[in-house]
Amino acid sequence: MDHIKLFSGEKIPLEMHKVMIVQKLALQPIEKRIDFIKDAGFNTFLLRNRDIFMDMLTDSGVNAMSDKQQAAMFIADDSYAGSETFYRFESKLQSLFGMKYVLPAHQGRACENIISQVFVEEGSIIPMNYHFTTSKAHVTLNGGTVEELIIDEGLKVSSSFPFKGNMDIEKLKKLIEREGREKIPFVRVEAGTNLIGGQPISLGNLREVQKVCQENDILLVFDASLLGDNLHFIKIREEQCKNMSIREITKKIADCCDIIYFSARKLGCARGGGICIRDKENYDKMKGLITLYEGFLTYGGMSVREIEAITVGLEETMDEEIINQGPQFIEYMCHELQKAGIPVITPPGGLGCHLDAKQFVSHIPQEQYPAGALAAAIYIISGIRSMERGTISEQRKPDGTETLANMELVRLALPRRVFTLSQVKYVIDRISWLYQNRNLIEGLTFTSEPEVLRFFFGRLKPVSNWTEKLIKKFKQDFGDSL
Ligand SMILES: *Cc1c(COP(=O)(O)O)cnc(C)c1O
Repeated sequence: MDHIKLFSGEKIPLEMHKVMIVQKLALQPIEKRIDFIKDAGFNTFLLRNRDIFMDMLTDSGVNAMSDKQQAAMFIADDSYAGSETFYRFESKLQSLFGMKYVLPAHQGRACENIISQVFVEEGSIIPMNYHFTTSKAHVTLNGGTVEELIIDEGLKVSSSFPFKGNMDIEKLKKLIEREGREKIPFVRVEAGTNLIGGQPISLGNLREVQKVCQENDILLVFDASLLGDNLHFIKIREEQCKNMSIREITKKIADCCDIIYFSARKLGCARGGGICIRDKENYDKMKGLITLYEGFLTYGGMSVREIEAITVGLEETMDEEIINQGPQFIEYMCHELQKAGIPVITPPGGLGCHLDAKQFVSHIPQEQYPAGALAAAIYIISGIRSMERGTISEQRKPDGTETLANMELVRLALPRRVFTLSQVKYVIDRISWLYQNRNLIEGLTFTSEPEVLRFFFGRLKPVSNWTEKLIKKFKQDFGDSL
């Protein structure tokens, strides 16, 4: 169902589910929240869940399961080898993607580890529409480099372009011409490009990438972790797909690819991952590494209960009434924030609502991590946990200088079926207040900085006493209210 129209004329997203199990939340007072974020080194990844009101860090592994997923977990077949649970998982994936071979892995990055170990070598170049943190780290670890070939529109904050995740085909052709196809073991296309605002790719674009790959005998590897929302956008935004079912679109996408991998923490609404492979030759290259790093070929490091839940979750992704729920809540949130003048990524994408920190706190230089500072400020004034997706999420260059991110985003993820509309309204209200008081926010600086994936464990501190000023203003405006 599309947004429902109220008698007042207002349009709101409507939850097409009821809540059957709940978890109690705490909204800690602001005096405590400042202590918690200090203890966490101003890194929202290091906060404790008990100290968070709304956890909008990610939609990874925290989507609410359906009754049918829970029910399926009861019939999981617990055996080390030959579990029936695996065969159900395998056959669901075979029917959705039409690929014969399926390897289980414990999560998305585990798939990336295996694929990179097998195909990437010293000097390899991996073209991508856009990188994801873990995909890039695995390519780099194996001696390769990543070339980002996103269309120019993809990096524009405000846009009405429907498929900002598309790959620039001319850039791809030029890269192959310049570097030679021998250096390029595969092209990686990511659905619902995570780091640039959950922006979708179109089927038309993927078909063009496929054509170039075929002409040059290069594998096409598809990261389907965020495929769910992307399918919805293809259906409503791409003319040639208007009359196709979600299932048909899924199959058409898979038809373009040689290998599809996914994090089932997102696609499938449970916890795990998998690799689907068209050819036996490539399957054989990878399967040995599954047993080495993940587990036997019929569980791949996952609990069989989770595998059952993924199988049902994948089928539910095909449900035309469920698949639009995430995007509709995100759209509502983005539009309401826009009404308050707040810079957000447009058009609204999947995954969550993305604030543009470069504009929100335009006075903070990128070297002082505007998105990280904004994420910390949001937690302090609301108890909401968001995620920095900017320069902190990049890696320093070998000479120690910063890689300034193309975009400085704060992601407010909307895990599926988890938050109600009144909670979403609370988010909108507190962020609108913060925007009015944005000049009080200043930057952060590292106090401890790991070399790899520093955004997970890095610790920072404010460059001045700006958090105190922020708290003072909050108390003036809200009094005793939390
Ligand atoms: C989350 C994600 C991954 C990694 O998956 P994990 O299960 O977290 O390891 C890979 N690619 C994309 C696009 C993702 O969003």
